[in-house]
Amino acid sequence: MNGSGKAVVVGGGIGGLATAIALIRRGWQVEVLERAAEFGEAGSGISLWANGIRAMDALGLGDAVRAAGLVETEGGIRDRAGRWLSKTDTGELARRYGPLVAIRRTDLFAILSGALPGEVLRPGVTVTGIENAGDGVAVTHTSGVSEADVVVGADGIHSVVRAALWPDAQGPRYAGYTAWRMITGPLGFSVSGSETWGRGERFGVVPLRDGCAYLFGVADAPEGDRHPDGEFAEVRRRFANWPAPIPEALAQVDPATVLHHDLYDLPPLDTYVRGRVALLGDAAHAMTPNLGQGANQALEDAVTLAAVLTEHPVGEALDAYDRLRRPRTTAMVRRSRMIGAVAQLSWLPATVLRDTVIRLSPRSAMLRSLDSVLTWEPPA
Ligand SMILES: Cc1cc2nc3c(=O)[nH]c(=O)nc-3n(C[C@H](O)[C@H](O)[C@H](O)COP(=O)(O)OP(=O)(O)OC[C@H]3O[C@@H](n4cnc5c(N)ncnc54)[C@H](O)[C@@H]3O)c2cc1C
Repeated sequence: MNGSGKAVVVGGGIGGLATAIALIRRGWQVEVLERAAEFGEAGSGISLWANGIRAMDALGLGDAVRAAGLVETEGGIRDRAGRWLSKTDTGELARRYGPLVAIRRTDLFAILSGALPGEVLRPGVTVTGIENAGDGVAVTHTSGVSEADVVVGADGIHSVVRAALWPDAQGPRYAGYTAWRMITGPLGFSVSGSETWGRGERFGVVPLRDGCAYLFGVADAPEGDRHPDGEFAEVRRRFANWPAPIPEALAQVDPATVLHHDLYDLPPLDTYVRGRVALLGDAAHAMTPNLGQGANQALEDAVTLAAVLTEHPVGEALDAYDRLRRPRTTAMVRRSRMIGAVAQLSWLPATVLRDTVIRLSPRSAMLRSLDSVLTWEPPA
């Protein structure tokens, strides 16, 4: 069978919702099973690069994202004293590839879920088991069993689908550093996008459309390290004396809204497909956020999967999906980890050398290095 059929998507994150939209636009009947009581994302920000925006365009939602987000017009890396080490040529970036857009996750979610008919979304349903059975798949969950021609495991880094059908796959590996994310209230002053790199610590500022900013702090830390005085107190202890505008921006954060997560990625899988089940997004290739590509790759996955499922019988389509997506995303996981290793250097001579190399690198080299990431086009 090709053209259309019934698909069950496990997980209603960015990857799962985008997949549902892409499949429905191509005539599929879709059910999205999400264990959370409501579809949504915790409040922080996200950067969508030209490749992710192209995927959103393919879903018919690019304009909505451009309208809700802010095109980044200035960005780069600073040293611990606040001096620019490199500035991204955002004009040339936009001309060559398309803009880099910063958006609140809540807004991105509203755009994605708003594009789906309500009956497609089944919140409060936790998937517990999955079985390939001939030409179909049976998904067991807390509300019964759903049957489908294809199942998409978009259930995140701790995927139940992956655990069931890839029992020998290695689990997530801790990157060695942890991240705090937060959104400020209105700042009352303008900020450039920046990442300030220290020793084993860095801090990012990403302006948003409404005069607020998305902030993130990253620090080397033992896995599971938590702070009895509260995570915002830890953020302030580490970063409140960093160069402007970091202290000023932190002064506008509501401590109750700070998110704290240890960062992991997934060792490469030997296939993203088992029978009629495909893994997608973080379930297939969770990556550290250093390249800002996790969600962008999930969007590429979604558009690609729907395109091949429309063109080919299911078996061939899933083989094509694996062929098109696995090499690219595996390389992205590796590259993100390498960038993290450099950004998190903590030995003083190594950070001095790193900062010097970045300062001396031409701006065009940085853009060239992104070429393979940003030139992605949706399958015809
Ligand atoms: C600090 C940080 C910063 C980041 N910044 C960026 C960025 O700037 N740009 C970018 O592109 N990416 C970024 N990412 C990565 C991005 O957030 C993820 O790659 C993306 O959200 C993955 O989406 P997903 O849909 O694959 O998985 P998830 O968002 O994890 O969604 C999985 C969904 O499945 C549901 N689920 C899980 N198990 C079950 C079950 N058994 N039954 C039913 N439902 C289930 C979960 O509740 C969840 O809703 C960042 C990540 C982090 C941690």
